[in-house]
Amino acid sequence: MPPESLRCRECKTTYPLDARYVCECCFGPLEVAYAAPTAADPDEIKRRIQAGPHSLWRYRDFLPVQAPPRGALPAGWTPLLRADRLAGELGLREVWIKNDAANPTHSFKDRVVSVALARAHELGFDTLACASTGNLANAVAAHAAAAGLNSYVFIPADLEEQKVLATGVYGTNLVAVRGTYDDVNRLCTEISGEHEWAFVNINMRPYYAEGSKTLAFETAEQLGFELPDRVVAPIASGSLFTKIARGFEEWLAAGLLEGTPPTFNGAQAEGCSPVASAFSAGHDICRPVKPDTIAKSLAIGNPADGPYALDLARRTGGSIDSVSDEEIREGIRLLAQTTGIFTETAGGVTVATLRKLARRGDIDRDERVVAYITGEGLKTLDAVRGTFEAWQIEPTLESFEQASQRVAAIA
Ligand SMILES: *Cc1c(COP(=O)(O)O)cnc(C)c1O
Ligand SMILES: [Zn+2]
Repeated sequence: MPPESLRCRECKTTYPLDARYVCECCFGPLEVAYAAPTAADPDEIKRRIQAGPHSLWRYRDFLPVQAPPRGALPAGWTPLLRADRLAGELGLREVWIKNDAANPTHSFKDRVVSVALARAHELGFDTLACASTGNLANAVAAHAAAAGLNSYVFIPADLEEQKVLATGVYGTNLVAVRGTYDDVNRLCTEISGEHEWAFVNINMRPYYAEGSKTLAFETAEQLGFELPDRVVAPIASGSLFTKIARGFEEWLAAGLLEGTPPTFNGAQAEGCSPVASAFSAGHDICRPVKPDTIAKSLAIGNPADGPYALDLARRTGGSIDSVSDEEIREGIRLLAQTTGIFTETAGGVTVATLRKLARRGDIDRDERVVAYITGEGLKTLDAVRGTFEAWQIEPTLESFEQASQRVAAIA
């Protein structure tokens, strides 16, 4: 499926495949359009995929770039784990965890940056930039360092310290903006008009967004070229959520998969839930909010792909739900204690939403559910602070046995 043009999602006007993101006719968002799938034998496409590298580049036939530049960090090909103990807790039979914390900078953002960087390199940019809620800054700084590009990353000044440190280490130009993510994004849109930089999620956004499709491709391949029945995934701008659906649709069209697309359930934090609010109010567009939640990686108050996320949830019979900060903390612990996977607050949002759906009876016991864990727990340690206590003892057997009895007496 060779990429053919950039195309407006609203009025379908087409543009060349360069660094642009907004339609000149209607101001709608642009996306990559591909030539109609050829009549290639699905088994032949599968063989090409299976002979590819253990990274998202094994799906190059479905991406707008054929190969990464030399020195690129490999991203993708993360584990899909069957989580029977978690399923048991939830009264379900088949739950899978796609663990995208297992990427080079420990979040799914390595996927989108890989594709945006490869296209930026092809277009001749020497500087990569982004407006970030945290994880994107980590990924841009690291991937730019690996490929030998300059980088500028713009973050809200109140970001988690772990994410700031894990970004600065790569030698990027780290710009902390006193404002919300939406302020950062507005500023970066202005800067992108003044500087010839590749802003991965602004002027490179159509390519960036394609990276998220690889989450669907990997899931389907890891399930033996089969579809899940239901997807639970977090929503910030809504790009990840809607592009997972696009990935499954493209493989259905290419004959790599059979059946019907899964039901899509979106997950947001109550403290920043413009899409969940619009869903429950029956609206087609989202009213912007000012975020206040521990799930900072999802704290986008004015989500660009909100209307598409609403449409996806509605047409697949799903929903978009929100969970409280306390439920997010519980979700983190539930996942850790049933699967051994420690996720950041965004994963807590996803697991807490999955639990909410199960409790509400929205999920049939026999469904095959895939939950997307998009980031690593070490990035948001504050979310688990104070939820347990270490035994404080002297280095003696006696002290240990005493502590043991004390704890047993309380339990
Ligand atoms: C960026 C991000 C998301 C979702 O982002 P979208 O803007 O909706 O594509 C989800 N989880 C984590 C951890 C993220 O960093
Ligand atoms: Zn248009």
